Amino acid sequence: MYWGLRAQNHRGHQSHGFLTCDKDEFYSYKSLDLVPKLKTTEIQNWFERLPGNIGISNVRYTTSGKCDDQSIVQGTQPMMAEADGIKLAVSFNGNIVNTQQLLKEVSQHFPSFAFSCDSDLVCNKLLLELKGGKDLAAAVKATMLALDGAFSVIGIIGDGTFFAFKDPHGIKPLCAGHSPDGKILVFSSETVSLDINGFERDFELEPGELVLATKDGFKRHQLIENPKKAFCAFEFAYFARPDSRFNGKYVYEIREEFGRNIVKEFPEISKDADIVLSVPETGDDPAMGVHEASGLRWERASRRHRYVTERAFILLDNERYSTIDRKVNILSSKVAGQRVIVTEDSVVRGDTTKIVIEKLRKSGAKKVYMFVTFPRIIGPCFYGIDMSTYGQLIGSTHSDEEIAKIIGADAVCYQSVDSLVKATGCSRDELCLACVTGKYPTPLAQKFADKMKKKFLEGYKEKSRIYEDAEESQGVQW
Ligand code: SF4
Repeated sequence: MYWGLRAQNHRGHQSHGFLTCDKDEFYSYKSLDLVPKLKTTEIQNWFERLPGNIGISNVRYTTSGKCDDQSIVQGTQPMMAEADGIKLAVSFNGNIVNTQQLLKEVSQHFPSFAFSCDSDLVCNKLLLELKGGKDLAAAVKATMLALDGAFSVIGIIGDGTFFAFKDPHGIKPLCAGHSPDGKILVFSSETVSLDINGFERDFELEPGELVLATKDGFKRHQLIENPKKAFCAFEFAYFARPDSRFNGKYVYEIREEFGRNIVKEFPEISKDADIVLSVPETGDDPAMGVHEASGLRWERASRRHRYVTERAFILLDNERYSTIDRKVNILSSKVAGQRVIVTEDSVVRGDTTKIVIEKLRKSGAKKVYMFVTFPRIIGPCFYGIDMSTYGQLIGSTHSDEEIAKIIGADAVCYQSVDSLVKATGCSRDELCLACVTGKYPTPLAQKFADKMKKKFLEGYKEKSRIYEDAEESQGVQW
C-alpha cells in the first residue's frame, strides 16, 4: 500500500493518509505533504501503527472546502465514520457538486457532523444508508444515485468487507488487480501502483459498478443499468502518469500520438520551426510525437529540477510563479537564434506557460510556437481538477490569437477535440470533455455551468469555486 500510494503521489501532494482494519478496529496515520521516504529503521513502527491485512490510502489536493492548513488536515483521507455499531472508512477520488443538499441530509441524521469537505460527506452518506438497514449493494446504489459529481471510492467496513465503486459516469479511473500468487487483491486509481508492486491488472471498474474483494476473488455487481460513461479526457493529457495504462494503452503512447496530431493539424507552423522543446514532464511525450512527425530535432534544452516536485498546476496561485520559475531551466545556447516549437499539456491560466516563454525569449529564441495537446479549456471542471472558475481560465474569454498575444507566443496551436478523442482509443461519447466543450455529463453541473457562465459574461465576479459559488448564490451558505 505504501509503494502503491507513493507511485501515485502526482495525484495529490497536500496530504497523505493510510488506514488499516484489524479485528473490527481501524488504525490510521495521516500527515501533510508528500508520502514520506520509508526509513529502514522506521518500518517496524509503521507495522505497529497500522496492523491488519486490509488497508486503504489516499493522497489529496483540495478541490472542495477551504485551503488553509487546518482545513487540509481535516480533509486528509481516508475518512472514517461510525454509527449504530457500523464502522466505515473510505478513500475518495473526485468531487461532489451537490454538497449543500447532502450536507442538509447528513446533518439532519448526524447532528454532530462537522463538515470539512466532500469526501467526508460521501463517507457519512454511505454510512447513513448502511445504518438504515440496507445491504452494501443497496446502500452504494442509493449513494450513487444521491450524488452529482465524480467519485471513485475504495472502502472498508469494520467487519472486514473490502469494496470499491465508481460513479455512474466513471469519470475518475479505478482499476482492480492482484499479486502474482493471487493472495493480495488491490484497487488503485492508476496501474503504476500495481507495476511498482509487481502485481497484475485485472480490469477497470465500470461506471456504476460495485466490486467486492473477497477470499474467493473479486465479486462484481453492476448497480446502474446502462450507465453513460464519461471518463475524464484530461487524465490522458495531464493528470495520469505516462506509464499508466487506460484502455490497454500506455498514456505515454497516447501523448506521443497527440504530438503527431498537432503537426498534421498545423503543417505550415511545423515547417517554420528549427527545433522542438517540451515543458517537462507532461510535454515530453508529445515532443517525441512532434519530432517523429516533423523530423525536427527534439532538443532537451528545457530541464526540470529533479527535487522541486510540486506540479505547477495544482499549486495555490501565490506558489505557482516561483515554483515554475525554479523548476524549469533553459539551456540558452541550444535555443539562441532558433525558431522553437514548445509542447505543453494544457494552458489553464496561462501564467506558467508565460513564464516558460519569457525564459525562452531571454535565452534568445527567435520564434516560439506553443503546441498544446489538450484543446482550449473554456469552462471550469466540477469533477476534481482545480480549474474551477470561468475567471481563472484564459481560454474562457480569449481566442487562440489573443491567448498567444497574452502569453507572448508567436502562435498557440491546440490539438482538436476530434484528434484527441481518436488518439485515446475511446469514442467521443465515452469521454468527459466538458471543460473544452461546455457539455457536462451530470445534470447539476450543467445547470450551474450555464447559470454561472451567463452571470460571468454579464460581469459577475466569481467568489469561489463554481460549485461552491453557485450553491451560495442560491441562498445556501457554507
Ligand atoms: S471537465 Fe475536464 S478536467 Fe474535469 S473531468 Fe471533465 S474532462 Fe476532466
